[in-house]
Amino acid sequence: SKPIVAIVGRPNVGKSTLFNALAGQNISIVKDTPGVTRDRIYADVNWLNHGFTMIDTGGIEPESKDIILSQMREQAQIAIDTADVIIFITDVRQGLVDADAKVADMLRRSGKPVVLAVNKVDNFDKLLMDVYEFYNLGIGEPFPISASSKLGLGDMLDEVVRHF
Ligand code: GDP
Ligand code: MG
Repeated sequence: SKPIVAIVGRPNVGKSTLFNALAGQNISIVKDTPGVTRDRIYADVNWLNHGFTMIDTGGIEPESKDIILSQMREQAQIAIDTADVIIFITDVRQGLVDADAKVADMLRRSGKPVVLAVNKVDNFDKLLMDVYEFYNLGIGEPFPISASSKLGLGDMLDEVVRHF
């Protein structure tokens, strides 16, 4: 069967925007356990000669004891456990925050290959310098992208399919 790629990161970094940009119309929603607020969403994606199944997740807020946020974290953990490759999204406008480092620790524990995407780089000339600090997460090269402007997605996907 096809490799599975999960998109994870804190709420509002642009996971769903990236998912929709890559998914086109091939989206299916799968209902999970009742009470789990955000359902996993799947899409089939083709990049060059590689096909894979992509999963969007509700988001990870590492420290929160809020029931909805902890359920979202649980959902993300399921996606991480299922995935062959993880796209970890951060937000260049917020910069590197402590919660990103905690998500990075979670991903490291999974032992899965992680591709680090730094989103909202809407202007590659002005914002590219701000991407470098994400090297401090210690999970490799940060790929600058703009999910809403569809910039940088090809280089990021090249890195994703390299791990299949
Ligand atoms: P999620 O919670 O991680 O799924 O984030 P969403 O995809 O819902 O996006 C959160 C907010 O960030 C929305 O207002 C998006 O329009 C915005 N957003 C997503 N991608 C980009 C981007 O590349 N550039 C900018 N400027 N905003 C973005
Ligand atoms: Mg979302």
